[in-house]
Amino acid sequence: MKPFTYERAQDAQAAVKAVADNPGARFLAGGTNLLDLMKLEIETPTHLVDVGRLPFAGVEEMAGGGLKIGGAMTNSKLANHPAVRERYPVLARAILSGASGQLRNKATNAGNLLQRTRCGYFYDTAKPCNKREPGSGCAAIGAPGGYGAIFGASPACIATHTSDMAVALVALDASVETMTPDGATRAIKVEDLHRLPGETPQVETHLAAGELITAITLPPPPPGGQAYAKVRDRASYAHGLAMVAVAGNRVALGAVAAKPWRASAAETALEGGGSPDEAAQAQIATAQAEDRLTHKLTLVRRLTAATIEDARRTS
Ligand code: SF4
Repeated sequence: MKPFTYERAQDAQAAVKAVADNPGARFLAGGTNLLDLMKLEIETPTHLVDVGRLPFAGVEEMAGGGLKIGGAMTNSKLANHPAVRERYPVLARAILSGASGQLRNKATNAGNLLQRTRCGYFYDTAKPCNKREPGSGCAAIGAPGGYGAIFGASPACIATHTSDMAVALVALDASVETMTPDGATRAIKVEDLHRLPGETPQVETHLAAGELITAITLPPPPPGGQAYAKVRDRASYAHGLAMVAVAGNRVALGAVAAKPWRASAAETALEGGGSPDEAAQAQIATAQAEDRLTHKLTLVRRLTAATIEDARRTS
């Protein structure tokens, strides 16, 4: 591991300034992704600003019936919060589908959204990877396995975003609240937080350098049922081959693109009176996948239809 310096932030504005003023600095909170990447020397920050003890770790009721969730709250605490379990079961279920109990006890909500891809070639420093080393190529294109994107990929990168929590947040129409380097705050829909790879897969979000996610806001739960489903290679502690979250009339997919993917075509089909099967089919008709990923189209279609049906049974 490369040498680095460390400071524990005393307040959010100082933390944001410390990272914005130093191109080699990174925020550290739970560390469940960053520390692994540092050990592999894929991430080589020269300075860490620890924001894990800033006072953004609670859940507040919002006027109108929504919730405001602290960015520094752990995934375990959020999944077990009574208001989340009762009103946003799709979110609790999604979080509990991710990682292991030990990791969820450390991982924060903001860090979960900003976790980097689990593409195996990104972690294998002997292989070319445009995300790790821009311009080096992409070892994943044409390689075996079912982890590639079927929506929004580019010739530079086909990696997927594998956060379970983010998929549920898109289905729930959640937003993040941030503090920007000039001390202002802004809100960004989770749906719009991440970028597609294009020619710059190493740039993964629309956050400015040093911009800190302080909270996640959930609107009131939508009418209708909620459901979450995940398919993975083994029963626990594995990132997904495909995930689906349904909340009322909204449908989101995971592990299918570089960002949690709003299934707009499926939603449109449902609004038009289509069945879950027809909605899933409409969504898959918009996919673009390598031939080796055609099995994933079938998997996502079936999982989408089944999860919509599950949500209807709970409404
Ligand atoms: Fe790297 Fe993206 Fe290719 Fe994976 S898919 S090897 S992350 S460029």
